[in-house]
Parts: sequence; structure tokens; C-alpha cells
Amino acid sequence: MAEISRRNFLTGAGLALAGIAGAGALSGCAQSKGSADKAASAETSEIKTADETRDADIVIVGSGACGCFAAYEAAKQGVKNILVVTKSGNATDSNFNEISGTCAVETEGTRSIGQTFTLVDLYKHMIAYAHWTVNAKLLRKCTMLLTEDIDILTKMGVETQILGDRYNVGFTDVHGFMTPDKGQPIEQYLTGEGVEFLYGAPATHILMEDGVAKGVQCEQKGKVINVNAKAVLVCTGGYMANEEMLTEIYGGVEIANMGSKNNTGDGQKMVLEAGGMEDRIHGLGMNDIYGMNKKSTLSVFNANPLMQLAFYGGLVTDPSGKRFLDEYMLAQQPMSGGGEATLHQKRYYAIFSGNVVDSMATQSYYASIGSPAVWTSAMTMFNAPIPDLENNLKKGKDEGWIYEGKTIDELAKAAGLIDLPETVKSYDAMVAAKDDTEFYKREEFLWPVEDGSSVYYAFEYNPSAFNTFGGARTDDDCRVLDVDLEPIPGLYVGGVENGSLFCTPYYDCGGSCSGLSMASGRIAAQHMAEYIKQA
Ligand SMILES: Cc1cc2nc3c(=O)[nH]c(=O)nc-3n(C[C@H](O)[C@H](O)[C@H](O)COP(=O)(O)OP(=O)(O)OC[C@H]3O[C@@H](n4cnc5c(N)ncnc54)[C@H](O)[C@@H]3O)c2cc1C
Repeated sequence: MAEISRRNFLTGAGLALAGIAGAGALSGCAQSKGSADKAASAETSEIKTADETRDADIVIVGSGACGCFAAYEAAKQGVKNILVVTKSGNATDSNFNEISGTCAVETEGTRSIGQTFTLVDLYKHMIAYAHWTVNAKLLRKCTMLLTEDIDILTKMGVETQILGDRYNVGFTDVHGFMTPDKGQPIEQYLTGEGVEFLYGAPATHILMEDGVAKGVQCEQKGKVINVNAKAVLVCTGGYMANEEMLTEIYGGVEIANMGSKNNTGDGQKMVLEAGGMEDRIHGLGMNDIYGMNKKSTLSVFNANPLMQLAFYGGLVTDPSGKRFLDEYMLAQQPMSGGGEATLHQKRYYAIFSGNVVDSMATQSYYASIGSPAVWTSAMTMFNAPIPDLENNLKKGKDEGWIYEGKTIDELAKAAGLIDLPETVKSYDAMVAAKDDTEFYKREEFLWPVEDGSSVYYAFEYNPSAFNTFGGARTDDDCRVLDVDLEPIPGLYVGGVENGSLFCTPYYDCGGSCSGLSMASGRIAAQHMAEYIKQA
């Protein structure tokens, strides 16, 4: 398939590729607007001859948060023949299955804690946070569906329970999932509603005819299948597993992927090929569970507990040993501001004395610094001693991401942090003066590094993320817009690869990623149900 990079698309070459891809493959295909003059020099598409053809009223590409909720809504709207084609191998093989909580207010849960914060309040919070960089109408429509989404989850057999205000944003919105492997009951429910799933069947192209989306081509076990449909929703979860696409945006920042290997940006490529254009925003859903690095096993739920130290609010440096942020941001807002700050670094290092690390075996660091009330994130995440500390230290050293030295000078040499001695000197002086004159960190997090320990440690981390945000520009019905901002008939994009719904840094209230992804699927399905009546 002709590669359409973000850059060459924006400079026009992508348009040419997009045009010829549509034009060459199917008889009667239209080129993208504005592409005709460049089409002659473009590569031809690799849409293949189909081994099998299927028909559907609507086809949904991807079985994650957006895809499942789109299928639910389409069935509710009376659409009969709903086919989900997905790269996932089964119902639990997606990021959606891994989610621990989703965003909603005005629910039974939030009412039970006496919260009066409304959906309108939530919308106002989010649009202000996004500085109006997203499609305000789409965000509003999605936000207004969040309460219902909790009821839908319950209906599909997924139990939720209200969690606390982990990010200290002033309201409670995260509903934790209590049902493990939620993909299974959801699939069961949807199948009961007549939705069909085609697993292990990655889509490769959108089938276009005269500028109208008419289906998708996918491949399953080496068989090429053309699915003819009246409308197509693409929700393939972004490009977190595509190093090349990440490099285009983040350059040499070594970002560890904590999400599914399925999410390789296929949807984005297909939609651009079909004539869509990208919206401006690209961002990351940063890993908020703990730090991570590429030298260790990339496991979200089974990681070395010393990964937590990235988010403890102690001294953090860049690879030269200099500070680069207010570490409290990383401790309290790892998904938004704090995580975002790490994206300026290839790697970053948390520096602790041996005495402090040893104390973590019997008492949580959170407790040892006086359980600061402003560190709400730690109350739920880091409120326990580090289990099996000695072994975990050894593992980290063996894997090459924990460095040690008898002095700060020795540590600096071992870890290659050349400016660390100078940094520790000035940091400890600011701690003594209770005044961080560099990044103005809160006093609760100002603790000295040098404390007479016989050993000092540097813990190495890469920025790490669950998913990307960014992709095609859509209107408030999730219809893909072309370069003239006209909707491409029959083509929709939802979830995290809807380029018009998510801001960067990511919204500061937890669970908005899945919440808005599910809601955008429903918004798209509502429009598709109407559209196919005329198509
Ligand atoms: C470990 C982890 C924890 C998380 N925790 C939370 C949380 O607590 N709260 C929260 O809000 N968010 C959380 N997220 C993020 C959340 O998973 C996503 O926001 C959400 O799933 C996005 O929904 P989506 O439908 O856009 O994409 P996904 O749910 O990722 O679904 C994408 C789907 O597209 C399929 N696909 C990919 N390529 C193709 C192709 N070519 N053809 C067909 N199908 C394709 C995939 O197989 C998958 O089925 C977490 C993510 C991870 C990895």
C-alpha cells in the first residue's frame, strides 16, 4: 500500500497518493479532491482481487471501546446487518479489555456520594481544559452520553463502581470496572443483538466508489474479503504500536508502548487514502500506573514495583543529570501535564538514596513523607511498601535500568548523568531553603537526596503510553471531512483516532479516553442509522 505519512499528506503528496489509491483500485472510484493534478506521479494502490464478498448494512472496523458501543447503538437504532471486522483475535484482545475505569457523572455512583457535578459541568471543564482546540460540538455530544454509557455497560453485564478523585481535579468521575475480561460479556450481549464479529481480519482499504464509502477490504487467514456496506466506521485505536508513525511526531523520544500491538495506525492510513484529512492534534494517553522502560518487560499489570519511583515526586533528571520539570506534576498528573513533560526526554531518571529506598520495604514512600493530602493519586496507587524490595532491586540492576554508586559522583559516572553532582548540590540547597526556585515544586515534595547513605540509586525510565490520540478530522457526527471540510459520504471515524475529539495534553479527568471513545461510537452509529436509510 502506498505509504501516506502525516508530513507528505500535509504537503500535498499524500493527497496524490490518496487520490490514485481510490482511483486505481475499483472501477468508478473517485479521486480525492485536489489530487487529480498529482495523480499521474503517484504509486498505484494495492487493493487486491477479493476471494470472497460479503454484504452488510454497516461495517465497523475495530472491536474496541468505540467499535463495541457503535455496534450496540446501531442495533438499538434498528440496523439489521452489522458486521464488525477486527484485527483482534478474540473479544478480550484489545486495549478496551484492559481499561480500569471510565468517565461519567450524574450516575447512581456519583449520586451515592452526594456529588452534584453535572454533565454540563464536566463538558465546561473539558472544553476549557482543551482550550477549544477540539470540535466543541462533538465533545459536547459525546459528554452528554456518558451517564447512559454506564447504564449500557451494566446492561451488557459489566459492573462498575465509583472511584475517588485520583487526579485531584475537584470532582469524581471515574467508574472502575469490576468485571474482569469485560470483552466477553460485551461480545455475548452484542452477538445476542445480531451483531457479527469477524476476528483476526484486519481491514486494509476502504472501498470507495465515486467519492462514497462503500465498504472495506480485509484479510482473514490469507483470504481477501470485500465487505460491501452502506456505511463504514473506522475505529482502529490509533498508532501506538507503529514506531515509524511515532518517530514522525516525537522524533528520537523512546516511547514505550503499553498498549495493544494491534494498534498500528491502519485506520488513519485507510481514511487518508480515502480522501480524509488529518486534524491538527496529536497526543498520547500516557501511562499513569507507574514509570516504565524498554529494558524491562513491558507489562502493565505485572511490572517491577520499583517502576513506581518515577511517580514519587522526588528528584527527576534528564539523561544529562539536569532537572526538567516540577516532579509533583509527574506524581499527581502522570497522564496529562506530568507525562507530557517527559516527552521532551529520550529517557528520565529518578534519584533516591539507599536509606530512602530501604525504608520502602516496610513503609510506603507516601507515608514516609507524611501522606501529603495533595497527592491523591498515591492514596490509591502507592499506599503500600514495595514488596520483595531486594529481589526487585536486583532484577532492575540485572536488566540494566537501576544504577548505583557509593556516592553521587560514582552514581553519575555509572549512569552517565554527567551533571548530576551539580544538580544534587543545588537541589538539596533548595530543599534546605524550602524553596524550589527552579520549577517551584510544592514543599511537601522537597526532600534531600544526600543523606549520608552508603549507596545512591538512579532508576531509568522511558516515557510510556497506552495509546495515541489523533487522526482524521470529523464533524460532530464523526463523519470524515475532506480537504474542503465536506463530509465524505458513508465514512466515519471514532475513538482515539478521531482527530477532532481529544486534546493534548490528554484531558486531566480520568477515564475520558474510553468514555469519549465509547460515546463517539454511539454518535457515529446514530448518524449511520439515518444515513443508510437514504444510501
Ligand atoms: C493497559 C491499558 C489501560 C488503560 N486504562 C484506561 C482506563 O482506565 N481508562 C480509560 O479511559 N482508558 C484506558 N486506556 C485507554 C483505552 O483502552 C482506550 O482509550 C480505548 O480503548 C480506545 O478505544 P478505541 O475503540 O478507539 O480503540 P481500542 O479499544 O484500542 O480498539 C481498537 C480496535 O481496532 C482493532 N484494529 C486495529 N487495526 C485494525 C485493522 N486494520 N482492521 C480492523 N481492526 C483493527 C484492534 O484490534 C481493536 O479491536 C487504557 C489502555 C491500556 C492499554
